Amino acid sequence: MESIEKLGDLTGKTVLVRCDFNVPENDKGEITDDRRIKAAIPTLKSLLDRGAKLVITAHLGRPGGKEDKAYSLAPVAQRLSELLGAPVKLAKDAAGPDSKELAKNLKPGEVLLLENIRFRPEETSKDEAERMKLAEDLASLADIFVFDGFGVAHRKHASSYDVSKLLPSYMGLLVAKEQAALTRALEDPARPYTVVMGGAKVSDKLKVIVNLLDVADRILIAGGMAYTFIKANGGEIGQSLLEPDMLDEARECMRIAKEKGVEFLLPKDLVVADAFSNDASCEIVDAYQVPDDMMGMDVGPKTCEEFASKIKDSKTVFWNGPLGVFEFPKFAEGTRFIANAMKEATANGAFTIIGGGDSAAAVDAFGFKDGDFSHISTGGGASLEFLKGEGLPALKEK
Ligand code: AMP
Repeated sequence: MESIEKLGDLTGKTVLVRCDFNVPENDKGEITDDRRIKAAIPTLKSLLDRGAKLVITAHLGRPGGKEDKAYSLAPVAQRLSELLGAPVKLAKDAAGPDSKELAKNLKPGEVLLLENIRFRPEETSKDEAERMKLAEDLASLADIFVFDGFGVAHRKHASSYDVSKLLPSYMGLLVAKEQAALTRALEDPARPYTVVMGGAKVSDKLKVIVNLLDVADRILIAGGMAYTFIKANGGEIGQSLLEPDMLDEARECMRIAKEKGVEFLLPKDLVVADAFSNDASCEIVDAYQVPDDMMGMDVGPKTCEEFASKIKDSKTVFWNGPLGVFEFPKFAEGTRFIANAMKEATANGAFTIIGGGDSAAAVDAFGFKDGDFSHISTGGGASLEFLKGEGLPALKEK
């Protein structure tokens, strides 16, 4: 898919843009983090500057295929209008009669946001024919489609995947930026190249890790998924998270790493606790000797030092997933330590990528700035899917 930079003058054209406006909200429905809306502005401004009329489609949360006020995009329309410095109309429906009427009457430079596309059950349907009905409704609103919702690039949904079968389609500037950064991490990394994988589950990330064994120089494993690898090596992990079904695959992954000469590091020490709570009593133990009644909650100081030195000595670093249960301040130190090492590596000229999701949320909660890293992805699931090396459905030519 080509970038919108290829497009010339768009006066008189209506452009349908798929954005990722799936922002967190508090109990009162106020947006608590507007980074995803901000990330869409360059694409929207670029299209408006060329004289386009904009129809934007996006989702918020999981309303389950029916209208639900709690998931309305009204707060997004307001914030978007503030950020664009222009009025944004909100359609009452998602590509229904109100959307059609408002889209028909748009003038150059005007912006229409459709209501939450997941109010329509067809959006996420497994049945392609069902999804195509919604894709046709969406396509009927515009002349050109622009995909800029990186967070849903790995989904085969009507508004991200199917609609591009019906209209001339381009990728937006955000998606182009994400693709360029991740392509560097997948195909052309400056070396040494270190990958840091944390988070809860091995099963979510094993395919990515195995694919990265072809390109990375070092893989550092932490978080909840490290315990399955430690157990696979014969360690005692007490009550720590374990995926017994993944033990063989974890062993195989470590065998391939050895065969390919990739340094594969597991934690040396851990912070363990007697309960899954911020008030639990905790101690630091050898990672292979977790007491029977304790569970791993974070990496220990030796691991922090070792991982940080590998990161600081790298020219490319990709990091996905917290190193411990960072939601509890008591177990956030490993994640903070690694974020700091990434920041130092960036300052020393390394190309550093934070792979979205919880790691992006963590660095934000710790008060790091966007400029502390080379790239913070807006899509955790999509960036991991990209690194599996099989391409992203929304970006494939149809
Ligand atoms: P993921 O979505 O796979 O990146 O996983 C993120 C989640 O992993 C966060 O909610 C963390 O609290 C959790 N996590 C990280 N380390 C651990 C651990 N040692 N034990 C249990 N959960 C963890």
